[in-house]
Amino acid sequence: MIADRDLVERDLAAVWHPCTQMREHPDVLPLVPVVRGEGAWLVGADGRRYLDAVSSWWTNIHGHGEPRIAAAIAEQARTLEHVLLAGFTHPSAIALAEQLLARAPRQAGRDPLAKVFYADNGSAAVEVALKMAFHWFRNRGEPERRKFIALHNGYHGETLGALAVGDIPLYRRIYAPLLAEAIFAPSPDAYAARPGQSAEECALEAADVLASLLDAHGQEVCALIVEPLLQCAGGMRMYHPAYLRRVRELCDAHGVFLIADEIASGFGRTGTLFACEQAGIQPDLMCVSKGLTGGFMPLAATLATQAIYDGFLDDSRERAFLHSHSYTGNPLGCAAGLASLAIFDQDGVLERNRATSMRMGELAKDIATLPHVADARQCGMVVAFELTRDGNKATPFDPSLRIGLQAYRAALARGVVLRPLGDILYWMPPYCIDDNALVQLAEVTATTIREVTACA
Ligand code: PMP
Repeated sequence: MIADRDLVERDLAAVWHPCTQMREHPDVLPLVPVVRGEGAWLVGADGRRYLDAVSSWWTNIHGHGEPRIAAAIAEQARTLEHVLLAGFTHPSAIALAEQLLARAPRQAGRDPLAKVFYADNGSAAVEVALKMAFHWFRNRGEPERRKFIALHNGYHGETLGALAVGDIPLYRRIYAPLLAEAIFAPSPDAYAARPGQSAEECALEAADVLASLLDAHGQEVCALIVEPLLQCAGGMRMYHPAYLRRVRELCDAHGVFLIADEIASGFGRTGTLFACEQAGIQPDLMCVSKGLTGGFMPLAATLATQAIYDGFLDDSRERAFLHSHSYTGNPLGCAAGLASLAIFDQDGVLERNRATSMRMGELAKDIATLPHVADARQCGMVVAFELTRDGNKATPFDPSLRIGLQAYRAALARGVVLRPLGDILYWMPPYCIDDNALVQLAEVTATTIREVTACA
């Protein structure tokens, strides 16, 4: 066993952590050294086990330490660890691209997604999609199409391009002076539905506003970007698939590309391999990362239609898409991706997830009745609980109470990693989670909610 204290001290002396006010470590915000992962569990340096109910930032889908993915990476590392992808290629990059295209959403009568551009993280995949959309129109002689439409409460990453189309004030506000201009359309979020209004009506009302924005600005817009069905960082807010169908029609009517950011929703999280499938639509550009490698390696991809790809073919290098990252299409990542996709087939993952998500829904029922839970919602393998002062939507907790942080600490003390988004607690576990762990997750969630709301 490694001394926990030593690791924390050494870490705080040398490491600057993401998404963290470092001053809060380690007293307000515990810092947990993890030395091993096993299935849905993380094992601390002190031997304590933690249920990873958030799949380590939504990346891990088949479980930590999944031996088939580990073996595929090891084999790839012994054979070819990396090669630049400009002027060179390798079997794993080719095979993974083929597999992604074969499994990508398809819509009858549309130009299918036909090419894969690799990157190494989700934000980079979004940057690639945004740059491709803009550059395609420029190559076509329409440089005035340089704006993007994005959704309120959306999130697409932290790099400047991705932040420009994101709308989470905590991440965006400070950098706003540096960001490209985007047009924001209302979120179709069902949580915002008026009393008596269905999720579908609420979504279509948001789509009507989008239609007016496109009427006014369509000629200046090159692409619209959405997180299909699920606005994750925005609080696991969910919306009706009818919105995506309308968005697809509107984008077509205005000649605007539709970018689906499936970075969090992709690879089975929402119940289908990709969330777009539930609306029966196909985007023009699709970004994937996170679950792409089963959560083992940083890898991302942007899938594009043949028509988009063809728009860059020319004698001039300026018309080519020169975007590049040193680790583009890294073989270890691609090998992990192939192993992860094989597991979907070998283990019947999507089918097994249907049973697991039903069980999650059952377990959520009792929690939904707790007095401070204003909403309990589910989309496939995601369940979210919205905590408010009086258990109704109109009375959020005073943010200074930091209910979410308290919940995080309370659950962690009970061996469960629940990492709330504001005052929204959610379950987004690795798909391999077993029933005992789910029951424990539900018990700890209920106890945590009771504890943190008792004196609030
Ligand atoms: N898009 C979505 C929908 C995401 O949830 C995230 C990450 N949370 C990103 C993009 C950015 O991915 P990364 O953190 O790998 O840059």
